[in-house]
Amino acid sequence: MTIRIDLHNHFASADEIRNLNLDKVLSHVSKKLGPGGIVGIVNFPRTSMKNKDRYGELKKHAGGRAIDKNYSLYFPEQDLWVVKGQEVPVIYRGEEVHLLHMGLRSETHMTFQRPSLENSLEEGKSYGSMIGADHPADITGIQRFLARDEGLKKTILPYFDMWGIFDGEVWLMRKKMGEVVVPILWPFLNNSAKEYYEENIKLQYSIGAVAESDGHSISEIGTSYTILDIPKFNPDIDGEEMINNLRITIKNNKDWKGKRKYNILHTLIHGIGGKKENKLRKLLERYYYT
Ligand SMILES: [Zn+2]
Repeated sequence: MTIRIDLHNHFASADEIRNLNLDKVLSHVSKKLGPGGIVGIVNFPRTSMKNKDRYGELKKHAGGRAIDKNYSLYFPEQDLWVVKGQEVPVIYRGEEVHLLHMGLRSETHMTFQRPSLENSLEEGKSYGSMIGADHPADITGIQRFLARDEGLKKTILPYFDMWGIFDGEVWLMRKKMGEVVVPILWPFLNNSAKEYYEENIKLQYSIGAVAESDGHSISEIGTSYTILDIPKFNPDIDGEEMINNLRITIKNNKDWKGKRKYNILHTLIHGIGGKKENKLRKLLERYYYT
């Protein structure tokens, strides 16, 4: 028995979540992830809480369709789990690094305004979140700091549960050309994250390998996923117990199996930013999943 997980997706903005056709969304996601599939919904606030708590919005919008497990929502009709998470931009040596905190309680909100790397790791540990290094080889990843600092490996890697060996929206840099910001795609970043994992983490630390869509739209959910060799979670399981069991399984997931797919068009649109991005994304969403 296996399940598919994609623990890093931003869905849409909180406003858009309020207006989603949830039946269509859920059937789309359950087709991608299959029975017992698990998707992580993450916020990514940088400077304000304007885009706050997408999980909270989804929970309100889902109403009676979902069973509230506190750390997650279970949708019985589609046999699908949505786990609450947050992607946090932390500061290390004056630079921005992203961390994934997954499996938070409904009412828990991580500090998002530029906490230090160490503070965010400690905070996540206090909440019992699963901590992930997302797009580790990207400019906003942790890998480049670890690669030149043996001491840092020993102090921070014990906090982590998962290492993103593949991210469907990773890029090396974004360049400004006139008014338009253009992302430069660099697929080798994922290879680098996987190689680093194989050589420095797989046998040395209790950290599992995962692939993530990192999508910013519904249509990207489940385009990349990790297959875990476990039976589906029983819907009656306690919410905290489910997260802890999931954490143990992920930590032991050293020989990665699953699907990896670049969402190049979405990545390009994500690089544009602002209202233009939202407009284009809406068009693309209509084409892909509605
Ligand atoms: Zn992300």
